[in-house]
Amino acid sequence: MTAAGLLLALAAAASSPPAFLAVVDPGHGGEREGASGPGGQKEKQLTLQIARRVAKRLEKAGGRVVMTRTRDEDVPLAQRAAMANARQADLFLSIHLNSMPGRARQGTAGIETYFLSADASDASAKAVAARENADRLAGEERDPEDPVAGILDSLGDAQALAESSRLAYAIHERLVGRVKADDRGVKQAPFYVLAGARMAAVLLEVGFISHPGEAKKLAQPAYQEELAAAVAEGVLDWRKGQQP
Ligand SMILES: [Zn+2]
Repeated sequence: MTAAGLLLALAAAASSPPAFLAVVDPGHGGEREGASGPGGQKEKQLTLQIARRVAKRLEKAGGRVVMTRTRDEDVPLAQRAAMANARQADLFLSIHLNSMPGRARQGTAGIETYFLSADASDASAKAVAARENADRLAGEERDPEDPVAGILDSLGDAQALAESSRLAYAIHERLVGRVKADDRGVKQAPFYVLAGARMAAVLLEVGFISHPGEAKKLAQPAYQEELAAAVAEGVLDWRKGQQP
C-alpha cells in the first residue's frame, strides 16, 4: 500500500461508525408457529421476514449481525440468548408479533417494546409474556435451572438491565414515530427468551397479527422495511448514548 493509500484507509476507518455485534432473533419457528392472523398469516413467518430486513439495515449501519435462525426451524428459547452470550454480542433483539384473544382481536393494534423484569408491568404485559413463554412450556426440555432464578440472575446485572431499558426506549420511540402505529408503550415482563442474555436485550412486539388491518400491513414488504429502518435507527440512537 502506498503512503497515500494508507492515509485514505486510516481516514475511512476513523470516519466509519463503531462496529457492534447484534444478535437478531426471529420469534418462534418450526412447530412453534407463534400467533396467527385472520388471513392465515403466521407469526413465525412474518418475524423471520422482518428480522431479515432488520439484519440488513443493521449491517448497512456498520454492525455485524448473527441471526438465531435463518429458516423455518425450531430453536429452543434458552439457546437464543445463549448464542448472543457466546459471541459476546452488544445487543439482542427478539422480534415478535402481538395477539389478542376473542373479541379484542378487532380493536387492538399497535407497538409494544419490552425488556426483562421478574414482574410484569400490568395484566396485559403478563399475558404477552405468558403467550411468548408458551413455546418453552410446550415442548422444550426443562433445563436444570429454575427459569425464575435465571430471570433474577439476569436482573442482578444492573448494567445490562439499564442498557436494555435504554435500548427499549430508543427503538420504541423510532418505531412509533416512523410507522405511526398506536403507541402502547415500553413495558417489562418475565420473558424466558431474554432471561439469559448478558447484554442489552429487548423483545419487540411490532404489531398485532390478530388485528385484521395491522396483520395485512405487517405482511407488506414496504411496511416491514419501515419497521426495520426504525429499529436500526433506534439501535444507532442507543449506540450514540453509550459510554465509551
Ligand atoms: Zn411471539
